[in-house]
Amino acid sequence: EDADVFRAAAARLRAHQARVRFEYDDQVGSNEIVTAAHRAAETALDEETPAVQQPDGPSEFDLPGMPLSGLSQRLAHQTIRRTRSRATRARRSTTAHLDAAREAIFAACGRRPSDRDLHLSAFHRDFRRETRQLLWRGKHMAHRCGDFFERMGPEWQHLAVCRLCEDTTDSFEHALMTCEDGVRAQVWRLAEQLWTSRGGEWPALSIGLVLGCGAGVDSKREAQVRRRRNPPFRILIAESAHLIWNLRCDRRIEHADDPDFRHAPQFVKSEFCRVIRSRFDSDHLLTNRRRYGNRALKPNTVNATWRGLFEEQ
Ligand SMILES: [Zn+2]
Repeated sequence: EDADVFRAAAARLRAHQARVRFEYDDQVGSNEIVTAAHRAAETALDEETPAVQQPDGPSEFDLPGMPLSGLSQRLAHQTIRRTRSRATRARRSTTAHLDAAREAIFAACGRRPSDRDLHLSAFHRDFRRETRQLLWRGKHMAHRCGDFFERMGPEWQHLAVCRLCEDTTDSFEHALMTCEDGVRAQVWRLAEQLWTSRGGEWPALSIGLVLGCGAGVDSKREAQVRRRRNPPFRILIAESAHLIWNLRCDRRIEHADDPDFRHAPQFVKSEFCRVIRSRFDSDHLLTNRRRYGNRALKPNTVNATWRGLFEEQ
């Protein structure tokens, strides 16, 4: 992300004729240069400050590319991917979803995640592979519904609309946020009850929150809080969304939009409990030291995380 800044700095250091000495000084106010450096660093870290275009370093010392001696296959692969992704312009719908996710996460956690955090959020290790796919498709509007069928022509129009909501165009967002399907409201209600029963504050639901719920927090203190509190929240939001989407597909595809078909509330509730419980069990699997070595979670952490989640269900 900051490669251009490092490149310009390296060029300037190379151009410097005398020996360069680095010194660590965290005493703000010890002298003018240190104070100015601290102030500049703080301004640069402030997310509200617009990024400044860094001037290039002296051209004869600015060497593009990578020395072969320091190149590994992994690094080469990462660099090629990054270069290609820069050449591809983000789709407008994706950018809109990123902004919605950023604002929703800010409202829920008080921190605006970067584009990179949001792109990676769908791939959080707390999520199952199927959930990752669901969120990734949601972010890129790649689910085959609504607009997808509209583009295919008039004979597919009946698949593009939501039958329950008087011919509203169907979409991932519609299914999760505004559809009149009773399943949707019931699953979110169950998730809210589960979360507030442990003293959590239930945020305003939005498609941004669902798509960005995996956006991590980075500082050490936040990471401690996350271990204790956020995993179930992230999982709860993603799994609830996944269940709503699966039951919506079941109604629309398996039951072919049968107007008389509805999932029974008792069935929805038992499915919800089953999904959340299975995540609880797989988190217990992650405590397996023989399998995961140092990466294994501590059993106490998992118990503290999930304790009380099932009491009221
Ligand atoms: Zn609907």
